[in-house]
Amino acid sequence: MVIQSIGRLEYIRGLKCRECGREYPPTKIYTCEECFGPLDVTYNYDSIELDRKSFEKRPKTVWRYFELLPVQNKRKIVDLGAGYTILHKCDRLAEVFGLRRLYIKNDTVNPTYSFKDRPATVAVSKALEFRAKAVGCASTGNLAAATAAHAAKVGLPCYVFIPANIELNKILQATIYGARIVAVNGTYDDANRLAAQASEAYDWSFVNINIRPYYVEGSKTLAFEICEQLGWQAPDHVIVPMASGALLCAIWRGFKEFQRLNLISDLKTRITGAQPSGCSPITNAYKDNTFDVKPIEHPSTIAKSLAIGDPGDGFYALNAIRESGGVGESVTDIEILNAIQLLAKTEGIFAEPAGGVTVAVLKKLVELGEISPDEEVVCCVTGNGFKAAETILDHIPEPFVIEPNLESLEKIIRQGDIKNE
Ligand SMILES: [Zn+2]
Repeated sequence: MVIQSIGRLEYIRGLKCRECGREYPPTKIYTCEECFGPLDVTYNYDSIELDRKSFEKRPKTVWRYFELLPVQNKRKIVDLGAGYTILHKCDRLAEVFGLRRLYIKNDTVNPTYSFKDRPATVAVSKALEFRAKAVGCASTGNLAAATAAHAAKVGLPCYVFIPANIELNKILQATIYGARIVAVNGTYDDANRLAAQASEAYDWSFVNINIRPYYVEGSKTLAFEICEQLGWQAPDHVIVPMASGALLCAIWRGFKEFQRLNLISDLKTRITGAQPSGCSPITNAYKDNTFDVKPIEHPSTIAKSLAIGDPGDGFYALNAIRESGGVGESVTDIEILNAIQLLAKTEGIFAEPAGGVTVAVLKKLVELGEISPDEEVVCCVTGNGFKAAETILDHIPEPFVIEPNLESLEKIIRQGDIKNE
């Protein structure tokens, strides 16, 4: 089925059910009418002519990969500059871990300081293409901020649905970008359900609900950039944090697309999923050698952005991990906090707890011998530490308090508390 796209570029083929394979035109549908399976965007790969040179003069944002993103009308693109973040070569951290080639994909420097700007730029652009009257999401954290900022750029109203018992500081960033916060008396599930109803009742595009198939495509640009930044090669190993599992699936899909288009020659990448041990339904299933992802009823972790007890893409993430020969691993809150500090002290990157999770999992896998010193490893750090400042503040060393004279300073230097080097 080839979809006519009213005279525009026809890179998008349509939507396809991941379960039964039924195809649909690229409309606002988001679950399969036959089997309720999730829908994925498909592309007319034969009409996409890209080689490495194609990218030389393109913008340094996710939109350099326009043909592989599900927006047909370039004039609808809402671009705050998300993506093409630095692939940071970690010499000091590599030395600590005994690795030769280690990189951090540093998504702390996106416009709203997390990787969620990638799917948000795609989703808000797609919402404009669909002529939505408003956008929104049911989220408190990174997604709310990213959606609100992109909506602000085009003056589209943005509605953020949250449970009423959430503290105000969690939605500070979204509010400042002009989002209207709707606090629902109920749980997260209640807020989500109401958002889904509102999306149908008022023709609003909720980025992670009724335009989710398009939204998730933005995240695969992480894989494209990693390949391009490594000189058009996929790395040996990528470590990705998992909440719903959608990010890991998107990155895996990105590597496969680049291989399919011959932009990289081989794909031998192992993809590893990282979770906090207070909410690790996917890594638990990995370790139990099953595909049956058992929900966690009461997630308890400092990595709030990963605290999804019943991960929608858990099964598919496990599939990608196993297919690639990767690993599922989890780490404790203390390991996460230590990793945040280690990354900051050795490389100058301040990660939110989800980023601490990937670095802590890397450390654990090196210690367990699951990652060899020769592997080229990329660790995804998906958000900025300032987002979780309160959580981290309790775990940093106290300042030295001294009198305002050299004698007092000398004293702490002599004691070896601080070094005079
Ligand atoms: Zn289906």
